[in-house]
Amino acid sequence: LAEVSELEKASNAKVDEASFKGGSIEVTGLNMAYGPLDVLKGIDLRVAPATVTCIIGPSGSGKSTLLRCLNRLVEPKGGDILLDGASILAMKPETLRRRVGMVFQHFNLFPDHTALENVMLSLTKIKGLARDVAEKLASARLDDVGLASRAHYRPSRLSGGQQQRVAIARALAMEPEVILFDEVTSALDPELVKGVLNLMADLGRRGMTMVIVTHEMGFARRVADQVVFMDEGRVVEAGPPDAIFDAPQSPRLKRFLAEVL
Ligand code: ADP
Ligand code: MG
Repeated sequence: LAEVSELEKASNAKVDEASFKGGSIEVTGLNMAYGPLDVLKGIDLRVAPATVTCIIGPSGSGKSTLLRCLNRLVEPKGGDILLDGASILAMKPETLRRRVGMVFQHFNLFPDHTALENVMLSLTKIKGLARDVAEKLASARLDDVGLASRAHYRPSRLSGGQQQRVAIARALAMEPEVILFDEVTSALDPELVKGVLNLMADLGRRGMTMVIVTHEMGFARRVADQVVFMDEGRVVEAGPPDAIFDAPQSPRLKRFLAEVL
């Protein structure tokens, strides 16, 4: 009986969890170059609120550059990006980074700070919250990613998967409308990949808008509302997972899938 009520509590907790206010993104005619090298060549992309978009494609096709444009870690050469209908090119970078979170392949945690402090830092530094408020929020976000018991560990004492969860908690703490993920499981030991993917799937179910660059085709098929195939700086094909994986149209996507599946 005690067990049953514990289970019930756990499932109620899930239902009670606040869902996110997922934002929309609309990219039109986006161009980006590194010096003379044209990397994005007229990207059009729509991401509806509270949906998961997975971006796939060969190395060097411009996937990371597209994500970097979405929160202006790099500046596009032309085109526009709307967040909830407003151009991000007219926004202050600090405002944008608060509204659009990003998680990287290498977690970029501060090694000399605990998990809790890593999540708190952006709250005190970027959001300007008082320490005690930041600490409460940061604890709650670590709890969300299943790491309440590791709050006072430094990154070096956490597994790669746990470090990636801290990075996700840090992104969540800013209460973004969109989170961008760039190959966040690529550096993880195989046995740690599933936990991080499950956490991302869970965020998707709770209504977070997510744009995910990934090599995990099974995950893309299972979780994505939309799969986008990029090659040589262009969106070659985009659609629901069934269409992309079971009925690819272009020779390039067919070739890519034959190589990775
Ligand atoms: P992907 O993430 O799909 O592997 P990237 O967006 O990282 O692709 O890279 C797209 C192209 O831009 C590649 O040809 C890459 O070599 C080039 N590139 C990426 N970052 C830089 C940079 N900082 N400076 C110059 N060229 C870059
Ligand atoms: Mg990349």
